[in-house]
Amino acid sequence: MTKDEKQHLNKLSAIGCVLCHLQGTPGTPAEIHHPRKGTGMGQRSSHYDAIPLCPEHHRGNTGIHGMGVKAFTKHYDIDEAGLLHITRRLLGAQQEQAYGWKA
Ligand SMILES: [Zn+2]
Repeated sequence: MTKDEKQHLNKLSAIGCVLCHLQGTPGTPAEIHHPRKGTGMGQRSSHYDAIPLCPEHHRGNTGIHGMGVKAFTKHYDIDEAGLLHITRRLLGAQQEQAYGWKA
């Protein structure tokens, strides 16, 4: 893993679980979920496509690995692409705060 990738994953951890965020309880300590969809041929998904999810929403009974991606998507009415989109928006907001960037 490169230094930049490691920094990126640290930022994801700092955001906290993106699904808890959607449910109105942001800041839950998160693990890093790597979506597998669309990577194909044994390719590892990029760290930049990773999504922060708390242990429950990652691998618990109501989690993406616990329920399976299909059931998870249906249950929360959002798929991995949607969660990634929100993750990136939150990352952007975090960077704006840190560096005073304007969107
Ligand atoms: Zn969560």
